[in-house]
Amino acid sequence: METYRNLIDGEWAVADSGKLFDVMNPATDEVLARVPESGPVDVDRAVKAARRAFEGGWRDVTGQERGRILLRLAERMRRELPRLAELETRNSGKPLVESEFDLNDVATCFEYYGGLATKLHGEVLNVPDNALSMAIREPLGVAGQIIPWNYPLLMAAWKLAPAICAGCTMVIKPAEQTPLTLLEFARVFEECGLPKGVVNVLTGFGETGAALVAHGDVDKIAFTGSLEVGKIIMKSAAETLKKVSLELGGKSPNIFFADADFEAAVDGALFGVFINQGEVCSAGSRVLVQRPIYKKMLDAMVEKAKTIKLGDGLDRSTKMGPVVSKEQLERVTRYQEVGKREAKVGVGGGRPKGAGLEKGYFVEPTIFYDVDNHATIAREEIFGPVMAVIPFDDEAEALQIANDTPYGLAAAVWSRDIFKCLRMVRRLQAGIVWVNHMQPTYVEAPWGGYKMSGIGRELGPWGAEEYLQVKQVHINLNEQPIGWY
Ligand code: NDP
Repeated sequence: METYRNLIDGEWAVADSGKLFDVMNPATDEVLARVPESGPVDVDRAVKAARRAFEGGWRDVTGQERGRILLRLAERMRRELPRLAELETRNSGKPLVESEFDLNDVATCFEYYGGLATKLHGEVLNVPDNALSMAIREPLGVAGQIIPWNYPLLMAAWKLAPAICAGCTMVIKPAEQTPLTLLEFARVFEECGLPKGVVNVLTGFGETGAALVAHGDVDKIAFTGSLEVGKIIMKSAAETLKKVSLELGGKSPNIFFADADFEAAVDGALFGVFINQGEVCSAGSRVLVQRPIYKKMLDAMVEKAKTIKLGDGLDRSTKMGPVVSKEQLERVTRYQEVGKREAKVGVGGGRPKGAGLEKGYFVEPTIFYDVDNHATIAREEIFGPVMAVIPFDDEAEALQIANDTPYGLAAAVWSRDIFKCLRMVRRLQAGIVWVNHMQPTYVEAPWGGYKMSGIGRELGPWGAEEYLQVKQVHINLNEQPIGWY
């Protein structure tokens, strides 16, 4: 079994405490590897290394060179894809085809920002004076990046690639449950041209992340995870007035009008919430169905959900793997019990039985129906394969229910009437709105939430902007004195 180390200043380092913790395979409940339990001393060393790298040359590396490094990382990612996809599945539980898909997106993300690195530029402003006024963009400095466990390497790439593109240095902490693919990928950083200290990788628990947020020499925190931790981070970051960007998940509505393509609707509703075991920040966990098709669609979804094959993600016929950890298993099964009290069960509601499912953290794909939008299962993020089906009569009611949530990450609307779709698009309070689809995500397009789903945007030029700051430069072109005194 492999024992990993942290990557600090280009060297592989044990934690100052010498402590390690186990990383599990959620399909088998077996220990996969051991990783360092980093504390504030390790965080401080990593931040100092990142600061030295930033001031010691990285800030002056050209966009062309940063772009080339990102393209090399992308190329290397594609080469390592089969090996890393298998590791991603063994560590996170997700089906292998999904890991392959994710890691392909990782490569695409590095490619995109590799191209963007030469296209970041400032502006010359039209001021009413004989002066050259400019707004130039500069890297923020040292970024702290805190990663969740649902898309381990992909969420890391969404933060690493724009930060490298912008010219920042960084300390990144993967989730305690799923650090392995990032640690493996970090082995090639130097070979791809990343100078020592530009990217530092620390494993650990919430305390490690907290030390990073509290550190006085970190300029920015980028976080993806739960609303609860997002709030803690914002409060702590206020002490040192760090910039923060937060992606905090949601309770996204997936809305089906009676005139939607029926087969596509059934498929889209299941895909929206069962992909990646439902461990998706933008999961369409509230399925709103117009009354004329309510019964028919519910029956069809239930029948199809029964055919979803659970198993070890390494088996290519598996459509749903285990959830990521014992804690997550307990959390999801707790919500299943709450759901049984609050609504009716269409399918699932417990743990599956069957060969190969005995040890892993498997839960049944679950559909609750006749759910009241005020029920706990319609309000709280479950982050597991649990769908809450809610009926509605008309557009106004659909909108009212859809927007009645503290979250605002994503929403989807399904109908053949484009005018109705566009009316809905304008009124839905969500940072991402899909029409006749749910979940497609592109590195070119912004990702982030309205309301309590977060602050800031990832991906596209917006993602790089989060790692830049604007400096105003005024160059007086008059040679005379100001003449005021
Ligand atoms: P967390 O929000 O606790 O974890 C996300 C990341 O934050 C992890 O790297 C975690 O470290 C780190 N972290 C935890 N506490 C702190 C802290 N005080 N300061 C800084 N960093 C911290 O999510 P959980 O893993 O506990 O999952 C719980 C729920 O969160 C899920 O059921 C889901 O509802 C939601 N979630 C949402 C995600 C999204 O994409 N929006 C992603 C993951 C979870 P460590 O893992 O080492 O404790």
